[in-house]
Amino acid sequence: MRNYKVEAIVIRKRNFAEKDRILTLFSREKGKIEALAKGSRRPGSRFAPYSDLGTLAKFYISRTNSIDIIKEISAIFIPEGARGNFARTQKVSYLLKFTDNVFEIDEPHPKTYFVLKSAVQLVSERELQLTILSFLANCIDELGLKPELFICQKCSKKILSGEKIVFSSKVGVLHRSCDNEENAQIHENEAKLLRLIFNCPYEKIVGAKVKHETFKQSYRLLLKFIEWHLGKILPEVAM
Ligand SMILES: [Zn+2]
Repeated sequence: MRNYKVEAIVIRKRNFAEKDRILTLFSREKGKIEALAKGSRRPGSRFAPYSDLGTLAKFYISRTNSIDIIKEISAIFIPEGARGNFARTQKVSYLLKFTDNVFEIDEPHPKTYFVLKSAVQLVSERELQLTILSFLANCIDELGLKPELFICQKCSKKILSGEKIVFSSKVGVLHRSCDNEENAQIHENEAKLLRLIFNCPYEKIVGAKVKHETFKQSYRLLLKFIEWHLGKILPEVAM
């Protein structure tokens, strides 16, 4: 197969040679790939408008012995809603950077692709902390790393409402009285939010009233959890 077509989101771009760019694409068909957009830094280049981060498009690509070359781009969505709005731009680029850091080249993750696609579109239109959180939850789920949120990982009893609990980045929730590793305490509201985002479809929880602090803490917990399991530091965004 010398030529192929993918539907993908531009998650990273870097300058190459004098007028070119190398785009990192997160595609439905092949996961993360890299391809050269020749002449895309030239003013008036037909590729220039589509090389922006967060652009969703169909890419027609030609395979070569070195880096693959983009022949044609047909745009589906350009995140214009985020332009000129710092908080939204920051969140869109965060999602892209996060994806770039978490996934390897040439490993398809179609479920994450669809979640990323709708997350980029949603964050571009409205600024939504819930979108970021459920995107992280999806990545964790797709990597097969789900934390336990209902059962104490020490005594194996169900966590009851009102009980003091802690969150371990290794396994999930524990009773505070069962914990001997000094894990951080987690508020009941944070546990509730995490259970929701891991167990309910996004459309069902969108619009849920959640305190800013609960979002912030739940985000920290999820990020630490995924960092611990991947053994690396991941990009962060202000929530
Ligand atoms: Zn326990």
